[in-house]
Amino acid sequence: MKIAVLALQGAFYEHETIIHELGADCMELRKKEDLQKPFDGLILPGGESTTQGKLLRELDMFAPLQEKIKNGLPVFATCAGLILLAENICNDDRTHFRSLPVTVKRNAYGRQLGSFHTVQNFGGMSAVPMTFIRAPYIESVGKDVEILARVDGNIVGVRYQNQLAISFHPELDSDRRVHRMFLESIR
Ligand code: GLN
Repeated sequence: MKIAVLALQGAFYEHETIIHELGADCMELRKKEDLQKPFDGLILPGGESTTQGKLLRELDMFAPLQEKIKNGLPVFATCAGLILLAENICNDDRTHFRSLPVTVKRNAYGRQLGSFHTVQNFGGMSAVPMTFIRAPYIESVGKDVEILARVDGNIVGVRYQNQLAISFHPELDSDRRVHRMFLESIR
């Protein structure tokens, strides 16, 4: 199994290390040509969604990647990646792939509480560590979107068809269950 990691900006390297650790192959998506190689799943890392969206368009990777996602490519998105997938962003006019029927709020925790750590249940798993960095949360979900986790009442993890999307950064903690969940959904 080969997992492609979008490697334009942000925290992509940590995901690659984990994918290898869990026994799958990994490749980086840095340019349009990389999209022609075969892969079984995609990771959209955290970082800055505006920058990532801009680079995807400038490098002509946006449309082919959007088509792959809409055609069912399994995708795991963290933080900025979740913003890239969201159909609506309540505090930004610019949307991106729009494949996930949710409304997200960027930088939803405000400046003071930009980053924090907590432990919560996640889709049937208990005590999953969650590190949030200038994170979005999901304000509302569309039909058939499964809610996997909430923190203080706000939705921070969802699953919809081929898409698993979360607000936090599991690659920064040592618990591998969320990555494993993604890989198992492909296997
Ligand atoms: N604040 C970033 C954004 O709006 C997301 C932060 C992150 O990925 N850790 O794109």
